Amino acid sequence: MANNSKLTGGAFLFETTDTKDLFIPEEFTEEQLMISNSVKEFMLKEVHGLGVERVAGLDAEKDKALVMEIFHKASEMGFCGVSVDEQYGGMGLDFNTSLLFTENLALGFSFATTIGCQTSIGSLPIVWYGTEEQKKKYLPGIASGEKGCSYCLTEPGSGSDANSAKSRAVLNPEGTHYILNGQKMWITNGGFAEVFTVFAKIENDDKLSAFIVEKSFGGISLGKEEKKMGIKASSTVQVFFNNTMIPKENLLGERGKGFNMALNILNSGRIKIAAGGTGGMKYGLERVVGYTTERIQFGKPISDFGAMKLKIGTIAAQAFALESGVYRIGADVDKKHAELLKAGSGDNDAKINSMREYAIECAILKVIGSEAICNTADEAIQMFGGMGYSQETGVEMAYRDARITKIYEGTNEINRMLSLGEFYKRAFVSKELNIKKAGGSVTSAIAQNFNPFKSGALATEFMFANNLKSLFLIITGVAGAKLKEKLVDEQEIVMNLADILAMAFMTESALLRVKKLSEQPGTDKAVLAIKTKMAQVYLYESLDTARKAANNAIDSFASGLSKFALKRLTRMLLSTYAINPKDLRRDVANHIIEKKGYYF
Ligand SMILES: Cc1cc2nc3c(=O)[nH]c(=O)nc-3n(C[C@H](O)[C@H](O)[C@H](O)COP(=O)(O)OP(=O)(O)OC[C@H]3O[C@@H](n4cnc5c(N)ncnc54)[C@H](O)[C@@H]3O)c2cc1C
Repeated sequence: MANNSKLTGGAFLFETTDTKDLFIPEEFTEEQLMISNSVKEFMLKEVHGLGVERVAGLDAEKDKALVMEIFHKASEMGFCGVSVDEQYGGMGLDFNTSLLFTENLALGFSFATTIGCQTSIGSLPIVWYGTEEQKKKYLPGIASGEKGCSYCLTEPGSGSDANSAKSRAVLNPEGTHYILNGQKMWITNGGFAEVFTVFAKIENDDKLSAFIVEKSFGGISLGKEEKKMGIKASSTVQVFFNNTMIPKENLLGERGKGFNMALNILNSGRIKIAAGGTGGMKYGLERVVGYTTERIQFGKPISDFGAMKLKIGTIAAQAFALESGVYRIGADVDKKHAELLKAGSGDNDAKINSMREYAIECAILKVIGSEAICNTADEAIQMFGGMGYSQETGVEMAYRDARITKIYEGTNEINRMLSLGEFYKRAFVSKELNIKKAGGSVTSAIAQNFNPFKSGALATEFMFANNLKSLFLIITGVAGAKLKEKLVDEQEIVMNLADILAMAFMTESALLRVKKLSEQPGTDKAVLAIKTKMAQVYLYESLDTARKAANNAIDSFASGLSKFALKRLTRMLLSTYAINPKDLRRDVANHIIEKKGYYF
C-alpha cells in the first residue's frame, strides 16, 4: 500500500525534501561531537601512537595480545556498547550518532573493523531481534567488551548467495537443544569472539534461521587467521561447528526468518561503511595536504600544482556529498524509529523497520562510499608519489585497508542490483512507493528543463538533480516495459541504472544541504561559498557518470525510434552544466590546503 509518511525510503525519487525535514551534519550537537571526538582522540593515542610502521605491520595472529589490549581499552571507554541500550549496559546512542561514531572510528585503520563489527553486525542481531531474556543475558557482556561478538553468515560455498548456506541445526530427541553442524568463513572477530550469531537452516527448512551461539557450548573450532591484503590487525577466521549443542531458547527471532534478519543487519552495516568512508576521506585529505604542502618539486610545494588541486578538490567534493547523504539518511532512520514507536510498534520492530525502510539508500551509500574511499586512497598514493608506495607513510596501508569495503556487507555488484531491485519491489510489489507521483514529477521535470533560468539559489543545480531522477524513472520504466522479468538477467543494464539512481540521490543530498545552509542566517558566507562549490563539482561529475550510464543502458536495450527518443531525452535532461570545473575545484582545494584539511 502506498505509504504517505514523509519518511519513506526511495521517495526521494518523486518528492522534493523540504529543508526543514532534512538533517545536515552542521546540526550535530556539542554532545554528539564530544562522543565522536573521544573516538578520534582514542584512535590517535592508542593506534597512531604506535607509529605508522608498527600499525602497518600489525598482524591479527602475531599481535593478538596488543590488539586485545586496545580492544579492552576501547571497551573501558564504552565504545563496545554504542548500539546497546542503556538498560543493558550500553550507551544507547541513536542511529545517527552511531554513524558519527563510526566516521571517527575509521581513524583506527583495521582496528576500526574490530570495533565496527562488535558494535554493528556482531551485536545488532541481539539488539534488534533478541527477546528480553536474550538481551539481559548477552548484551551487558558485549557492551562492556568482556565478550567479543561476531556475525556468521558466509560459508565457503555461499557468499553473495547467502541463503544457500549448508549449515544445519537439528533439534535433539529430547527437544531441548539444536545440534549445529557447519562451517563459516571470513568471520570478523571470530578469533576472539565468545558470542556468535550463526545463520543456519533448521532440519529440512529451505530458509535460514539465526542462533546465538556461545563459544562455551563446545563443538566449535577455529581456522588460522586469514592472510589478507589489508585490515591485517582485524581477526578473520573460519569457524567450524561440530555437533554444537545450542539451547532451544537461543533461537534468535523466528524460525525461517534468518535471511531477512541477516539482510536487515547488513543495511546498517552498509551505511556504516559509508560513514567510515567519510572519516577515512577526511583523514586522507589532512594527510595529503600535510605532504603536498611540504614536498617541494620544481621549486615549489607540489600542492601549488593544478594537477594536485584537481585531485584534492575532487576528493573534498566527494566527501561532502557522501557526508550529506549519510547523515540525511541516518537522521531519517531515527525519525522513522520515533514515528513507528508513536504508531504503537514495539522497540525491536521499530528499530528493524526503520532500518529496512532505507534499504535503497543504504545500498547506494555503501557503493558510493566504498568507491570514494578507495579512490581517495589511490589518489593519496599518487600525490605522495614514491613515498605513497612505501610502508613508511602508511598510505599504502590505507589503500589496502580501503579495498575490502567494496567486497564485504554485500559486494558492490550485489548492492547495485539490490538498490534497483528494492526500488522495483517497493514501487510495484509492496507499493510502499507511490509510483503514480512519478508521472507528475517526470512531466514537470521535462517542462522545467525548457526553462532553466528559473530564478532562485541553485535553481539550475536542482533542475539537474530533478532531471537525474526523471531520467532514471524514464529509462528504468522503458527498460522494464521492454525486458520485463528478463531485466534482472541483463545485469550490465542494471548496473547502469543503479548508477543513475545513485547519482540522483547523492547530488540531491549535497544540494539540499547547501540550500539549508543558505537559509540559515548564521551561516558564514565564505564557508557557504566553498560548500556550494563542492556540491557543484559533485553535480558536474555526477552528470558525466549518469550520462555515460544512461547511454550504455539505452544502447544495450533500445532500438529504432525508442532509442533515438531516449538518447535525445538524455542529451536534453543532462545538457551542459555551465560551470568552470577547474576554477571551482581550485577554490575548493585552496580552502582545504589553507585549513590543513577538511575543516570549515
Ligand atoms: C575481510 C573479510 C571480512 C568478512 N567478514 C565477514 C563476517 O564477519 N561475517 C560474514 O558472514 N561474512 C564476512 N565476510 C564475507 C563477505 O561478506 C563475502 O566475502 C562477500 O559477501 C562476497 O562473497 P564471496 O567472497 O563468496 O564472493 P562471491 O559471492 O563468490 O562473489 C565473487 C564475485 O562474483 C560476483 N557475483 C556473485 N554473485 C553474483 C550475481 N548473482 N550476479 C552478479 N555478480 C555476482 C560478486 O559481486 C563478486 O564480484 C568477510 C569477507 C572478508 C574478505
